[in-house]
Amino acid sequence: MTDYPDVNLYINGTWRAAEGEKSIPVANPATSLEIGRVSQASNGDLDEALAAAAEGFKVWSRTSPLDRAKLMRRAADFLRNDVEEICRWMTLEQGKPLAQSRLETLAGADIIDWFAGETQRTYGQVIPARNSDVLQLTMKVPVGPVAAFTPWNFPINQIVRKLSAALAAGCSIIIKAPVETPASPAGLVRAFDKAGLPAGVINLVNGRSTDISRYLIPSPIIRKISFTGSTPVGKELAALAGLHMKRATMELGGHAPVIVTKSADFGAAVSSMVPFKFRNAGQVCVAPTRFLVDHDLANAFVERFGAAARMIKVGNGLDPSSEMGPLINEKRVGAIDELVTDAVREGGRLVVGGRRIGNQGCFYEPTVLADVPISARIMNEEPFGPVAIINRFTDVDQAIAEANRLPFGLASYAYTRDTAEATRISNEVEAGMTSINHLGLALPEVPFGGIKDSGYGTEGGSEAIEAYLETRFITRKG
Ligand code: NAD
Repeated sequence: MTDYPDVNLYINGTWRAAEGEKSIPVANPATSLEIGRVSQASNGDLDEALAAAAEGFKVWSRTSPLDRAKLMRRAADFLRNDVEEICRWMTLEQGKPLAQSRLETLAGADIIDWFAGETQRTYGQVIPARNSDVLQLTMKVPVGPVAAFTPWNFPINQIVRKLSAALAAGCSIIIKAPVETPASPAGLVRAFDKAGLPAGVINLVNGRSTDISRYLIPSPIIRKISFTGSTPVGKELAALAGLHMKRATMELGGHAPVIVTKSADFGAAVSSMVPFKFRNAGQVCVAPTRFLVDHDLANAFVERFGAAARMIKVGNGLDPSSEMGPLINEKRVGAIDELVTDAVREGGRLVVGGRRIGNQGCFYEPTVLADVPISARIMNEEPFGPVAIINRFTDVDQAIAEANRLPFGLASYAYTRDTAEATRISNEVEAGMTSINHLGLALPEVPFGGIKDSGYGTEGGSEAIEAYLETRFITRKG
């Protein structure tokens, strides 16, 4: 017994099996054993979800912002009340330690609350007219039904940012949840159901990602898409959205540089970056990946970082002493192993780790590589796993050039006590988000998004709701 539920589709306010009772197994990455099943939507099910989203949009877009905000806050409270059940599901399906699952669920409630506030701030403008008998104004109106596609690394967080912004704006939404981690998203949607959200405003489906995105994006009912995942898939979906003139938000991959200059508070850099690197087994789009450390500090940095990485306790996320859980599946274990092997073959130095752990579950050692040449695959592809690469630089120009070498531009980090260096890094590192001397990303009230191949649009801060609104202009005489 695992207390893990089978997960149904949620369409038009009803939880139900897929057409033909089709379903897909869900495995616990800590044991590789099947723990439940998730319903696999057919095109007929998706048609019902589309029809429900169209009707839900009519109701929700006419619901007053004040009432939308009240309902969202009620949902946030239900999510908080259900946190213990939901975080256990999350750990069983995703593998992360229970404390991280709990934090993610509670942070989800805070995100809903924050966007509930934004509901009442979607202001238009009055534009001074050229004639005194003309009134010119703009209104912000919801764009329409949304299709959202989200990955397994943060099963609640990836959905709740899209869902909350969409609902705050007055949109309905069809969420395609990750097939690997379906239960905690269902717990999130259940909170809105308990809060009394009208039928059709949220619809939750699951199944084969490619089939569902290819079916939903071209539908004339869908007016906006939002995707979080890898850059290649994002480019494919953005192209499809473009073909059908759909607005899109793309949160894609990264390969975050961390510049540690000679003037840095060295201890702070190591003690904050080690747990941050290995959080969620490194399966985080903003995870620090390329450490660029001043030549004079590099040997000591590698030694301290490696020693701290070696101390991380890896184990089943249900065990309260575990600090790092498994990777999501066998495919990811193979991918990480190949990247590490390739880095060593290319001349990189394996400082710590570099092997899978045991033969049950998808565990991999926290791994540190040093002095890896840029010819290695891992210096060019997003690692998305528990691997830190520590390379050295001789001046800040060289570090900034390396930071900007890749087409990614999501997160970047720096440690320096020199304000001129901090200013240069802020101005010159090409990233959607830069955090200097502390970890300050991903709060509901601050922007969250990338540039270059890491995508476009932001999923946090006051701009996030704009992606779900369109501007209408009215001019009136008399
Ligand atoms: P993947 O590219 O196959 O899938 C990533 C996510 O996108 C999954 O949730 C998947 O269901 C979804 N997806 C894939 N094809 C899709 C399609 N055609 N339409 C809609 N959704 C689709 O990779 P994976 O093996 O699951 O994960 C590994 C890679 O994915 C990583 O290397 C990383 O770059 C990326 N990833 C990024 C994030 C992120 O937060 N940006 C999260 C998870 C995975």
